Amino acid sequence: MNATTTFQPRIAIVGYGSQGRAHALNLRDSGFDVTVGLRPGGPTELKANADGFRPKTPDAAVGDADLVAVLVPDMVQPQLYRDVIAPNMRAGACLLFAHGFNVHFGQIAPREDLDVVLVAPKGPGALVRREYEIGRGVPSVYAVHQDRSGRAGQLALAYCGGIGGARQNAIRTTFKEETETDLFGEQAVLCGGASSLVQAGFETLVEAGYQPEIAYYEVLHELKLIVDLFYEGGITRMLEFVSETAQYGDYVSGPRIIDAGVKARMKEVLTEIQDGTFARNWTAEHEAGLPNYRRYKQADLEHPIEDVGRRLRAGMKWLDAAPKTAAPNSGAAAAKPAAAIPATSPATQEEAA
Ligand code: NAD
Ligand code: MG
Repeated sequence: MNATTTFQPRIAIVGYGSQGRAHALNLRDSGFDVTVGLRPGGPTELKANADGFRPKTPDAAVGDADLVAVLVPDMVQPQLYRDVIAPNMRAGACLLFAHGFNVHFGQIAPREDLDVVLVAPKGPGALVRREYEIGRGVPSVYAVHQDRSGRAGQLALAYCGGIGGARQNAIRTTFKEETETDLFGEQAVLCGGASSLVQAGFETLVEAGYQPEIAYYEVLHELKLIVDLFYEGGITRMLEFVSETAQYGDYVSGPRIIDAGVKARMKEVLTEIQDGTFARNWTAEHEAGLPNYRRYKQADLEHPIEDVGRRLRAGMKWLDAAPKTAAPNSGAAAAKPAAAIPATSPATQEEAA
């Protein structure tokens, strides 16, 4: 690195929810100058105050910043961009997203003079904070949509490092790839696929007359042990740890459950993401006041497995001691040197992370 001067961006984080809180705390602990922009009296203002920030209104926070991270819900971003961010951002500043949705689907057309980047941690905000505090990180992907300064990629990587994501391998992607794969992952496998698989397994056992408590352990509780093994060493590691009987059952029954029909429907879901159908439906649902969203959510919350789970988890004393996925409230800093970015930008440098 041959830079003689350094540029340390002043960062405004707009929104203090799942990602906003984690990014703000991690970046501050990494030595960045961080301001939180929030609506006065909004629901997360107390939290930001308790964490030692002095939140400004979004327009004030945005106006003072070299880099603005837009961490309000995706459906809120277009209006916030139009009304508050675009009119107040400094010329040549950097606009950062944690998900490519609005830029990719054309809901936000960023000002021509701005750098526009994406830094998306592949995990929920609470994990982004918790992993940082214990000196690890959640792998992140980053992308550049607009590079007006010549250092947009480096800004994204510096931010990535500041939230802890570049401690792992930060992978360069595009807004398109991040948006489409992120939506597919959460719909087909992580949120949609996994929860529907668990519910169907639970219903099958309970309808066959087995105790709901035992069904809960079998299809939900034990899933963590399996997923931890996936995380540590892939399916290989899971196979090392389960019995021969479990392996044989896996080989003969797994493909009967997740069969070619499932994969064909996964492809349909992917197509609807790629062609914009999902984005249009979701935007229309939001504009209509979320009638279906609320109904679907209520059905999940009222599923019998939730009631059984609540009762069983009340007896799991270790859950009280374990780090929770609900916002961990700790100011403990994982020591990291202050981040600085070279003012010059060797073209290859951002690729080296
Ligand atoms: P969130 O719903 O947890 O938090 C939203 C924050 O924005 C809150 O502080 C809320 O008070 C504030 N807010 C809501 N409406 C507002 C408005 N009109 N004006 C100003 N502030 C407003 O959001 P999140 O889940 O952290 O998502 C933020 C971004 O991060 C999204 O682009 C999302 O796709 C992305 N992302 C989220 C996750 C995740 O796990 N939650 C993971 C990766 C990327
Ligand atoms: Mg997602």
